[in-house]
Amino acid sequence: MNEHITALVTGANKGIGHAAAEQLAALGMTVLIGARDPRRGEEAAAAVRAAGGDVDAVTLDVTDPVTIQAAATRIEERFGHLDVLVNNAGITGSGQVSPQDAYDQVPSTVDLDMVRSVLETNVVGVIAVTNAMLPLLRRSPAPRIVNVSSHAASLTLTSDPDGPFAALLPSAAYTPSKAALSALTVQYANELRKDGILVNAAAPGFVATDSNNHSGFLTPAQGAAVLVRLATLGADGPTGGFFSAEGPVPW
Ligand code: NAP
Repeated sequence: MNEHITALVTGANKGIGHAAAEQLAALGMTVLIGARDPRRGEEAAAAVRAAGGDVDAVTLDVTDPVTIQAAATRIEERFGHLDVLVNNAGITGSGQVSPQDAYDQVPSTVDLDMVRSVLETNVVGVIAVTNAMLPLLRRSPAPRIVNVSSHAASLTLTSDPDGPFAALLPSAAYTPSKAALSALTVQYANELRKDGILVNAAAPGFVATDSNNHSGFLTPAQGAAVLVRLATLGADGPTGGFFSAEGPVPW
């Protein structure tokens, strides 16, 4: 990897995004750590820098067009282009009132404001950030976009009444948001295929982070590995696909 390869990871101040930023920096990329809170972003950047990474924090709230445009302007002024965009920022919507409120996404009783906020962050936010960064990505010789999805986005897996996913907690906001992200991934891949921009969705697995009160069984580094693989695909790599560490995930 040469020093001019630049990557932006949204929601990189903690969790899987932070681990992805660490790994991309370890490959020699210059990594922009997107964080909606400037202080949390600077702290995360300082931690990766202390380990030798070439990183910078950039304030970016995926629901705030002003910060998105400011981030794009800053990347343009500083680097002139962007090679990798990892759309990682996401919320489950649950636990906003109480971390113990595990049954707040039952379809028949789900709170509509929660659904709206999850879709705004996990779906609309991805469109807003991607479209703001696309002019910079088009200046890269090998642009890659990674959308961080979830096995929960798989209608094949979740619609199997005998499969393990049917037994999971109801998820009327989060799961549909990630399924919409799958559809978006394919739409972007179709539009951008002719331009050599590879767009794929990643399923990190069940990773111990704040989003699940650290109940996952994978480390953030393990979860981030598939994001990094999709961020560093060769020119003959797939586009419009959905992958976990184990390989393709059914839609
Ligand atoms: P996490 O530790 O809660 O991290 C989420 C990150 O997204 C944080 O940096 C958070 O920032 C940021 N974020 C939330 N809303 C944002 C906004 N409006 N603008 C910018 N950043 C925002 O969760 P995680 O588990 O690492 O999740 C990362 C991604 O992986 C998400 O898309 C999630 O859906 C996906 N995923 C996770 C798992 C899992 O098992 N953990 C499984 C499948 C998929 P703050 O610190 O400011 O809140």
